[in-house]
Amino acid sequence: MKILVLGAGVVGTAAAYYLASDGHEVTVIERHPMAARGTSQSNAGLVSPGDATAWASPAALKTFLRALYNHDLGIKVRLRFDPYFFAWSLRFLRQCTQVRLRANTDIKLRLALYSRDCINAISADTGIHYDERKKGILYFFRSQKSFDTGTDNYRYLAEHGLPIEIVGRERLVELEPGLADARDRIAGGVYSPIDQTGDSSQFTRNLAAYAAEKLGVQFLYGTTVEGLDIEGDRVRAVMTSAGPRTGDAVVISMGPESGLLGRRYGIDLPVYPVKGYTATVPLEDESKGPTMGGADEDQLIGYSRLGNRLRLASTAEFTGFDRSHKPSDFAAMFRTGKELFPGAFDENKAELWAGLRPMMPNSVPVIGRARYSNLYLDTGHGHVGWTMACGSGKFLADMVAGRKPEIDPQGLVYVN
Ligand SMILES: Cc1cc2nc3c(=O)[nH]c(=O)nc-3n(C[C@H](O)[C@H](O)[C@H](O)COP(=O)(O)OP(=O)(O)OC[C@H]3O[C@@H](n4cnc5c(N)ncnc54)[C@H](O)[C@@H]3O)c2cc1C
Repeated sequence: MKILVLGAGVVGTAAAYYLASDGHEVTVIERHPMAARGTSQSNAGLVSPGDATAWASPAALKTFLRALYNHDLGIKVRLRFDPYFFAWSLRFLRQCTQVRLRANTDIKLRLALYSRDCINAISADTGIHYDERKKGILYFFRSQKSFDTGTDNYRYLAEHGLPIEIVGRERLVELEPGLADARDRIAGGVYSPIDQTGDSSQFTRNLAAYAAEKLGVQFLYGTTVEGLDIEGDRVRAVMTSAGPRTGDAVVISMGPESGLLGRRYGIDLPVYPVKGYTATVPLEDESKGPTMGGADEDQLIGYSRLGNRLRLASTAEFTGFDRSHKPSDFAAMFRTGKELFPGAFDENKAELWAGLRPMMPNSVPVIGRARYSNLYLDTGHGHVGWTMACGSGKFLADMVAGRKPEIDPQGLVYVN
């Protein structure tokens, strides 16, 4: 088949790779001059089944409501007139029950575990590298109280297939010597040994180059998708800034923009942008930096070690499609980074970035056929899209081929 994939983020590129590996003739349409210039450009770098817990939960309900009036939290809600945001929020709030939290987390964990294996298989099969590190991730807590309550979600993941070790302060520093100077600030944490880290933009660009060279995928960079030309129950063409493109099937993987396109054609696709910030700093003293990925669960900061760089990430901000940033957006992140790794980096050398998580109200991505007989979705991967992209692409390719998927599809198949 001739397949058009819309968007060359990590999700669209992984889908293109698997579809082309099945022998399809694949064209990827991307508005930027290269792959991974959207949200996949500079995320926290965590390939983290350990972070599979869905965002919507009874606790998140309280935080979300508090964020409406308290702007100093890691979650920030800027109230503006945006009917789409209100509709999204109502759907998010409906997911904030214990039952929905568990159901959504089950699906994400299954996909994240599968996807991690897919990333590793791709890098073994193609030989691509992406500053990867396979040493696990530490999720840690500052106070005994948050340690005691915060481990519940991890115990649940453990009961559903994620190997973890609950670690006290001494064991934590033994695993991560980079945190030695911060020992007294940390009560304990959770070590997920199969989690890993890597640079998603390097991965995506290297995979795109491989797919173009070895699998014949055509990347139309600098080409904006402007709409769909629908005829009956089919997408006849994708309208682009370079004219119409036709294909037998179309896959929407436009990250946060997917919802904007989908809803113009009657598709129920409540993807909302949730802004976050990252800073990437060269490690001045590598011995003082982390040796593996981590997350400070009280300060809501994630980090990863990408070669000799440290990437810090924080904040979930509901502010529409605004991707701007200013120095003060990074102040808390640098403060925490210096507390954890004193002397490791100089913030004046940081590359600053802001991006938008393509977030579904239930945190579960949408993969499957939507409304039209030849239209597929692979989008809405939210806060763990780097982690889930490759598994999603493989699952989609299996679906397009009519093959039995390798992953249990329960709860994963999108129906619209
Ligand atoms: C601060 C932050 C930290 C994060 N940390 C992690 C992490 O540690 N681990 C993890 O797993 N995930 C993380 N994520 C989430 C992850 O980065 C995203 O889920 C993932 O990158 C989404 O990939 P995507 O391909 O769907 O979207 P994108 O990367 O945004 O790709 C979509 C592509 O579509 C293109 N596009 C959009 N509209 C059009 C159009 N009209 N025409 C043509 N092209 C178009 C865009 O240019 C873009 O290239 C983080 C996100 C943020 C913001």
